[in-house]
Order: sequence, then structure tokens, then C-alpha cells
Amino acid sequence: MAQYQIEAILVAVRDWGDADKMVTLFSREHGKIIAFANGARRPKSPLAGGMQMFTHLEVTLAPGKNSDSVKQCEIKHAFRQIQEDFNCMAYGSFIAELTAELCPERQPEPQVFDLLLEVFHILTLRNPRMVALASAWQLLAITGYYPEFESCTVCGQELYSPVYFSFKDGGCVCSQCEHYGLSEIDKKTSDFIKCLLHIDWRNPGVFTVNGTVLIQTEKLLMSYLMHCLDKPLKSMNFIKQVSSLL
Ligand SMILES: [Zn+2]
Repeated sequence: MAQYQIEAILVAVRDWGDADKMVTLFSREHGKIIAFANGARRPKSPLAGGMQMFTHLEVTLAPGKNSDSVKQCEIKHAFRQIQEDFNCMAYGSFIAELTAELCPERQPEPQVFDLLLEVFHILTLRNPRMVALASAWQLLAITGYYPEFESCTVCGQELYSPVYFSFKDGGCVCSQCEHYGLSEIDKKTSDFIKCLLHIDWRNPGVFTVNGTVLIQTEKLLMSYLMHCLDKPLKSMNFIKQVSSLL
């Protein structure tokens, strides 16, 4: 197979060997691609500038036996402001890591690509914690992991308070069905999550939320991600460290 070109955003970067990098690219054309950028850690390498976290670029890849390698790259937008602010970097890393974890390799998800671009643009302009929270729920919706909030996952009936949340069933459970040991979910929380799903990133507007609902929405997200991915996200520790400094 010949070399090919993609438009991509870097969602993970790690050092490899003496001077190389292993990068996870999220491309518009092919979804997630893991590739090697040989020599990218040498300061004079033509790949040195582009193979940085969050960078939006045009990349030329050469197919290899086990994995592809980056041959050339042209930076479209470096998102340096994210790198310059610890708080933005922590939440940006969370969005990037979640994307890399939720999306299988080489499955085109142009909606995810567009979401990443919009979200990385807005991350330094708005509250990064809210941007990360909303984009995480949107990522779950696009990738098919979004939980059921409209009707009971057990009997299918419409939901009336009190409503419970079942990680095992992937959504809400009504009070008529077996809900022993499940936590109750406040209607305000599920309404807020639905509202986050519909944020238009080009024109997000201003919205307010009370602190309790915000914290419940974050807690539900984190527990649900832990359930879906079966492991904690590394960026969560980074967020905790950064918030303890602020
Ligand atoms: Zn039910």
C-alpha cells in the first residue's frame, strides 16, 4: 500500500526508543490510528514541531508491517494555549484520553473529529471543567455509550421520580423494577446531562447550573466511565493534582 495523507489531531503521545515517539492520531478519514514518528524527539527533526499533544495537522503516513509510520506533517493549528495553561491541559488531556479509549482503531468517526476540533478551540475561552464535562457526555453519545435516561432500561416504561441508575443495565431504572442497591438519580441531574448534549460549540451561550447538580453530573460521569472502560483514566489524576494547586 502506498503512502497516504490524513487530517488528524494528536490525542496521545509517548516517547519510544531513543529518539522516536508513538503517537495516537485521531483522523477525519480513518478515526484512530496509532503510528510511530521516527526521530521525532531530535530537535532538528522535521516532525519535532508537529508531534505534540493536541496538534491539528495534515500527516503523511507510510503503512508498515505492524504499524504505520509518520513521514511528513504540516501543522494547521498547534493549540499552544492549551499547553500553556495547566488547567486547560488537564481537561484537554481528559478529552483526548477519553476519545482514544472509546474509539476503536480505524473506524471513521467524523463527528468525533469535528467535536475535538471545536472543543480544543473553545477550551481556553470558557470554563475548561464545563467544556470537558459536556464534551465527555457528547463523546459517549456519538460512540454509542450514552446511557438511557428516557425510559426504564428493565421494563421500558416512562420514568417518574424516584428514578435509579444502573451501571450494569446502562441507564435508568424505574421504582417499579428491582432497584435494590442502586443510587437514586435526581431529575435535575438527568435534565442537565440532556442539556449538555445539545450544546452548540460554535455558539455555546451562557448557562448556569447549581453546584450540587454539577458535582452529581461529574460523579455519575466518572463512575459510568469507570464502568464502561473498566479502568480509571490517567488524566483523572492530573486533574486532581492541578485542582489541588488552584
Ligand atoms: Zn422499570
